[in-house]
Amino acid sequence: MNTPYDINALREDFPILSRQVYDRPLVYLDNAATTQKPRCVVDAISREYYSVNANVHRGIHYLSQEATRLHEEARETMRSFLNAASTAEIVFTRGTTESINLLATSYGETFLKEGDEVIVSESEHHSNIVPWQLLRDRKGIVLKVIPITDAGELDFDAFEKLFSDRTRLVSLAHVSNVLGTVNPIRRIADMVHAHGAHLMVDAAQSVPHRPVDVAALDCDFLAFSGHKVYGPTGIGVLYGREALLEKMVPYQGGGEMISRVSFAHTTYERLPYKFEAGTPDYVGTHALAVALDYVNGIGMQNIQKHEQMLTAYALEKLSAVPGITIYGHAAEREGVVAFNIEGIHHMDMGTLLDRLGIAIRTGHHCAQPLMQHFGVEGMMRASFALYNTTEEIDALAAGLNRLRQMF
Ligand code: PMP
Repeated sequence: MNTPYDINALREDFPILSRQVYDRPLVYLDNAATTQKPRCVVDAISREYYSVNANVHRGIHYLSQEATRLHEEARETMRSFLNAASTAEIVFTRGTTESINLLATSYGETFLKEGDEVIVSESEHHSNIVPWQLLRDRKGIVLKVIPITDAGELDFDAFEKLFSDRTRLVSLAHVSNVLGTVNPIRRIADMVHAHGAHLMVDAAQSVPHRPVDVAALDCDFLAFSGHKVYGPTGIGVLYGREALLEKMVPYQGGGEMISRVSFAHTTYERLPYKFEAGTPDYVGTHALAVALDYVNGIGMQNIQKHEQMLTAYALEKLSAVPGITIYGHAAEREGVVAFNIEGIHHMDMGTLLDRLGIAIRTGHHCAQPLMQHFGVEGMMRASFALYNTTEEIDALAAGLNRLRQMF
């Protein structure tokens, strides 16, 4: 395997990878759902609880100051990771879903009126559909949908025709969690801005796999989840341009987000705290920063190269399985491969693969409109991370072949 790093040494960083399931070595290929955690991330969590723990931003005492320092250093790590202009643009959330809900609520309340239009695509995750539908119910906005081609790419001709003088925001995944398609965000940003609208990028599936630079992408907002990039669950980021965040009304009210409170009148904290009501997950932010440092230590370009190699290998191996349909064949894609095998229900196959120790995802992948596009109820999905090997893909292909014969 031609990998730009020592994969066996690196797998040692992830204790879970050496466990067995059903007396077989675990083959974990469900990384688009969540990634496993390196020891340094878990150690950072226990270290902080054992020796630092105190609420942030509130105490004058030693521990509170140390916890606050770690929390704010983490914000700087995220800023630098995304190449944002300022830490004021880095809002901590529970993850991509909360980031998009925050945006739909605050951006919607601030900038959108009845009849204004938001554009999403047919291949979005439910997290980038339902918050806009809730806003539609509340405010009477119009939600428009970009169709995709059978290759799994955005239909740019149809996309261009959706713009009108009421288009305010376009919200799209950077990378599809089902097809792996990479959307050309910079090109889209230019299109969106030419129409005087804003661009939100759901980067849940790009941040773990490729360098993401908000300045180079020229997006207005971007969201990702820590748990998909080797960090803990329950922490994520919403990046937003300072000038826009500055104008937007708060999402939730409570402690941390206020400047002064009286019953007559309350004023809000400066950015980004205006959007961070309540005690933040300060242990999570620190642990996520440790995860991003870990990723940077390996080098995002190296990770991408390795995963591209795995994806090409998987496409070749899986294409040879009789009766297989692989969904989407975008020109640019990341390490996600979705498929079905003729005559076999995806759930049955997934259950039997599990008995062989192979963890893949089955179902609608929180993208039911995309399933409708392909006329299926669900798919199987294998998704790769920096620690996966070609041997694991061989195990998947062998498992599929063996089970297929059983059926
Ligand atoms: N968008 C995409 C493209 C995703 O893949 C996911 C997670 N599957 C989400 C949004 C939601 O992420 P989370 O559940 O971490 O909020």
